[in-house]
Amino acid sequence: MYRSFENGKKRRKRDSLIKEIVLLFAVCVISIAAVTVLSADVALRIYARSNVFTVVIDAGHGGKDKGASSKSGTSERDINLAIANALAREFEAHQVAVVMTRQTEDSLASPFSLNKKKDDMNKRRQIIERVKPDLVISIHLNNFPSDTSVRGLQCFYDKSGELSQKYATAVQTEFNKSGLDINRKAKTGDYYILDCTEYPSILVECGFLSNPAEEGLLKTPEYQHILAYYIASAVVKTQLNINANIV
Ligand SMILES: [Zn+2]
Repeated sequence: MYRSFENGKKRRKRDSLIKEIVLLFAVCVISIAAVTVLSADVALRIYARSNVFTVVIDAGHGGKDKGASSKSGTSERDINLAIANALAREFEAHQVAVVMTRQTEDSLASPFSLNKKKDDMNKRRQIIERVKPDLVISIHLNNFPSDTSVRGLQCFYDKSGELSQKYATAVQTEFNKSGLDINRKAKTGDYYILDCTEYPSILVECGFLSNPAEEGLLKTPEYQHILAYYIASAVVKTQLNINANIV
């Protein structure tokens, strides 16, 4: 009798402790989620109201989706983010407002989502729609293991966008002139991020992870800075020319 009463008492105590821990955990999760959503929302609304030239920088992939990987294990996900961060700093130095779709290595998908890739891409679209940017720049890396000699930057733009074509052509031309041994034409691309909104959008494949020399360069902060400098310079010059009705 005594033992079972004691056990019952202990069990009730343990159950109520578990309930308290679960409740506390739920309150913490909800609070963190609310603060994150609200602060992101306030930041996005400020950008959406501003009349400053605004760019959404989208670092491709994230979380378990590492994008392309090199033979030595370099993942596109991480280099994309490093270039996107360098690009954000470059634009901010030119008084361009910047909103990043992701700032960590994580995906934007909810941990509870059943289709994380779809959820991640939807969240990116929602950010663009809320910011209403003048330009979306998505940063990616290429991979072509069947011919490791292929290298160089390639710029794509959304099919329906005249402005997108101007920005993409400007970025591509800036690189073709840079002395980096690149000679390509900007092309239309069939990418979700380019076509998911009405805003001008370009996608920059910054180089080939399958080319060992280029992979080595892409990993260095110096080359990431060079890429950022050329992309930002081309965009800012094009924007000034568009405003002045030159292009
Ligand atoms: Zn990619």
